[in-house]
Amino acid sequence: MTNYKIGILAGDGIGPEVVDAACLVLNAIGEKFNFSVSYQHSYIGHSAIEKTGNPLPDEALEMCNKVDAILLGAVGMPMYDNNPSAKVRPEQGLLKLRKELGLFANIRPITIFDELLFTSSLKPEILKGADILFYRELTGGIYFGTPRERQNSGTVAIDTMKYEKYEVERITKMAFEAAMRRNKKLTSVDKANVLESSRLWRETVNEVSKDYPEVELSHLFIDNAAMQLILNPRQFDVIVTGNMFGDILTDEASQIAGSLGLLPSASVGSKVGLFEPVHGSAPDIAGENIANPSAAIMSVALMLETSFNNKLASDSIKNAIAKVFKLGFRTADLVEAETDKNHILGTKEFTQKIIEQL
Ligand code: NAD
Repeated sequence: MTNYKIGILAGDGIGPEVVDAACLVLNAIGEKFNFSVSYQHSYIGHSAIEKTGNPLPDEALEMCNKVDAILLGAVGMPMYDNNPSAKVRPEQGLLKLRKELGLFANIRPITIFDELLFTSSLKPEILKGADILFYRELTGGIYFGTPRERQNSGTVAIDTMKYEKYEVERITKMAFEAAMRRNKKLTSVDKANVLESSRLWRETVNEVSKDYPEVELSHLFIDNAAMQLILNPRQFDVIVTGNMFGDILTDEASQIAGSLGLLPSASVGSKVGLFEPVHGSAPDIAGENIANPSAAIMSVALMLETSFNNKLASDSIKNAIAKVFKLGFRTADLVEAETDKNHILGTKEFTQKIIEQL
C-alpha cells in the first residue's frame, strides 16, 4: 500500500482546527482509495516564534524537505498586525518557506457550489457553473525585480518588473498541462500593449503553446481580464498570469466563490508542494469550533490531484463536501435566513458529515 508522508505546519489561530479536520478527511479518503498517510508535525508563524524565537525554525524546514507534501493551516496574530515595526513576524516564516522550497507557481481553484451561490456578491445566474483554475507566477516579476529603491532624497521611487524566459516557460507548461486535464482552454493575462516584460511573457506563452495544439489559447490584457472575470466568469477554464496581476485577479476571484472559508491553494515548484487554505488565521473565531474547515479540506483534495495524481480521490472529497451542502448543513460563516438552525454545525461536526459522505 502506498504511504504518503505529510508534513503538518498547523500555525496559528484557526490553523490547527482546520488542519485537524483536513487530516481526518485525508485518513478517511486513504481508507477508501487504499493508501495510508503518516504525519510529521512542526511549527511555523507565531507558534514557532513562541517556541524558538524564529517563525520558521530549521527543524521545520528540514521536515518539509523530507515529506511528500506539506499541509499548512495559517499564520498570524493581532499582536503583530497592530505593530508593523515588529522585527520578527509570523508571515516571514511563510515567505521563507516558499523561497527555500522554490515554490514558483501558486495554484488557486475557484469552485462554486450551487447551494452557496447566494454567498457571492455576483448574481447567481452569472456565477452558476463557473469553475476557474488560476496559475499565478509567485517568485518573479515586480515584487522581486531590482533595483527597488528610492532616489533623489526619497522623492523618486523605483520598482522593477522583470521576467526571464525560463520563468515564464515553466509556469506556462504547468498551466497548459492543467488545461489538458480540464476543458482545454487557457487564458494568459498580461499587459503586452504597454510592458516589455509582458511582451516577453506573451511571446513565450505562444511558443510553449506549440506543444499543446489541442488547447485553445487566448490572451487578455489585465484590465480587460479584471472586467471579464466578473462580467462572465464562466468563459474561463485555466488562467495563467504573472505575480502582481495574479495577486490582484485571484483576490478578485475569491469573491466569486463567496466565503473565504471555501478556497484552497497550492504552491508548487521544484521540490515538495505546499497546500493551504487561502484564508488567514482568523483570530476572532479561533478555538471556538466554528471555523469552516472546507478550504483546508479542499486543500487536501488539491494535494491529492496535484502531488499524488489521484483525481478520483480528489473528486470524491469535493463531491462529499457538495453533498453536505446539498443536505443543508452549514458552518456559521455560510448561514442565511432560511438555514435550519439544527443544520448549523461546528468545525468538528461539519467535518464528520463530510467523512460520512465519503
Ligand atoms: P482572515 O482570513 O484570517 O479573516 C478574515 C475574516 O474571515 C474574519 O472575520 C474571519 O473570522 C473570517 N474567516 C477566515 N477564515 C474563515 C474560516 N475558515 N471560517 C469562517 N470564517 C473565516 O484575515 P485577516 O483577519 O485579515 O487576518 C488575520 C490574520 O491572518 C492576520 O494576522 C493576517 O496577517 C493573517 N493572514 C495569514 C494568511 C496565511 O497564513 N496565508 C493569509 C491572510 C492573512
